[in-house]
Amino acid sequence: MTRSERAFAEAQRYMPGGVNSPVRAFRAVGGTPPFIERGQGSRLTDVDGNVYIDYVCSWGPLIAGHAHPAVTARLHEAVDRGTSYGAPTEAETELARLVVEMVPSIEMVRFVNSGTEATMSALRLARGATGRDKIVKFAGCYHGHADALLSTAGSGVLTLGIPSGPGVTAGTAADTISLPYNDLDAVRAAFAESGDQIAAVIVEPVAGNMGVIPPAEGFLEGLREITREHGALLIFDEVITGFRVAPGGAQERYGVLPDLTCLGKIIGGGLPVGAYGGRRDLMEQMAPLGPVYQAGTLSGNPLAMAAGIATLELLREPGMYERLEALGAQLAEGMTRAAEAAGVPLTVNRVGSMLTGFFTEGPVTDYASATAADTTRYARFHQAMLARGVYLAPSQFEAAFVSLAHTAEDLEQTAEAAMAAMREAAA
Ligand code: PMP
Repeated sequence: MTRSERAFAEAQRYMPGGVNSPVRAFRAVGGTPPFIERGQGSRLTDVDGNVYIDYVCSWGPLIAGHAHPAVTARLHEAVDRGTSYGAPTEAETELARLVVEMVPSIEMVRFVNSGTEATMSALRLARGATGRDKIVKFAGCYHGHADALLSTAGSGVLTLGIPSGPGVTAGTAADTISLPYNDLDAVRAAFAESGDQIAAVIVEPVAGNMGVIPPAEGFLEGLREITREHGALLIFDEVITGFRVAPGGAQERYGVLPDLTCLGKIIGGGLPVGAYGGRRDLMEQMAPLGPVYQAGTLSGNPLAMAAGIATLELLREPGMYERLEALGAQLAEGMTRAAEAAGVPLTVNRVGSMLTGFFTEGPVTDYASATAADTTRYARFHQAMLARGVYLAPSQFEAAFVSLAHTAEDLEQTAEAAMAAMREAAA
C-alpha cells in the first residue's frame, strides 16, 4: 500500500469522499488521488515522493507556478505583521487599483473569499439594481455552488453526473433559465418570452467547466446587444479567464465589456480570494453606499491580498502572455500529435494557456458536443499520464492550465508521455 492510499483511506473516515471538493476524489478517472506534500514551480511532489508536471495548477490560480519566490516573499513579509485585522488596509486598495487598471470594464471592486461568493453577490446586485428576479445561465457553465447557479452546472456537477436539484428550492430553480452555450437564438427566444423579468445573463466568456469551449464568433457581442436592449445586466464570470487569457481577461481578448465581472483564482495567487466589480453606478448600490448587502469577516484578508498583488505584478511584466500563449500552443500540439499517432479522435480546444483535449471527433461547441466525448478513454489516458509523471485534471470536463513556471522541456516531456499514454488509451 502506498502512503497516498493509506492517507486516502484515513481521510475517507473523516470527510465525505475524503476530500473538501468533490472532483479531487478521482471518481471519474478511478484510482487513488496522490496526496500532495509540496509544490515547486511546475512540479508537484506527493507523499510517496513521486514527482508530477502539474497542469491543474490548483484549478487555475497558480499562473506563476507553485511557490513562486515573489509570491512567497510577499507572503512571509505579510504574515509577520499578523494574519487578519477586520479593518481596512492599504494592501486592499493596492490590489483594487491593480484590478481596476487591468480589467477594462471594472471601475470599482469588492473582494470576497471565493468565486462562489463573487457570483452569488454579483447576482444579488443585479437583482437589486434591476428589481427583477430571473437569471439566464448556460448549460455546462459552472459559477460556483450558490443555489441559483447549480442548474445544468459544469465542473463536478457534470463530472459526477449529479442532478442539480437536491437542496435547492423549487422557487430558486424556477428563477434560473438555462440555455445552450453559443446559441444566440435561444437567448433571443428567452428574452422574447420573459425579457422584462430577467435581471442578468451570466456567462463564462470562455467556458472552462465543461472543458474549454471558446465563444463562437459574435456570441459575446450578441449577449451584450440583447441584454442592453432589454435592460438586463451582462455578467462575465471570469473566475478562470480573468488574468488568464489576457491581462484584462476575456473581455479584453474579445473586446466585449460586461456590466459586472466575477473574479477568483489568479486574483488570490493561490490564497482564497474572489472579487466582483464593474460599473461605478452599480457598485455604488452595495452597502455601505447602497441598499444591497454583502459582507465578510475575512474579506480583503492581508495574506490573500499580498499573494494577489505579487501575482498580478508578475503578470504585468512584459512578455508574460506571449510566453503563456507559446506554452499553451506547444501543449496542444503535443496532445494532437500523440492522438494522431495513436489513431485516437481528439478535439483540442485552446484559448491561450487553458485547453482541453476532448476524446471525440468534434467540433466541441456546447454541452451536448462536450458530453459526446469518450470519458472512459479519458480515464485511461489520465491514468497512463499520471503513471508517467504528468498530473492532469481528473475529469474530461475541466481545463488544463499552463503556468509561467512550465518550461519547453516540461512540455517536451509531456508530449513524450502523451505519445505512450494515447496508445494505451486507444487499446
Ligand atoms: N466560476 C467559475 C467560472 C469557476 O471555474 C469556479 C470554480 N472552478 C467558480 C466560479 C467558483 O469558484 P470557487 O470554487 O472559488 O468558489
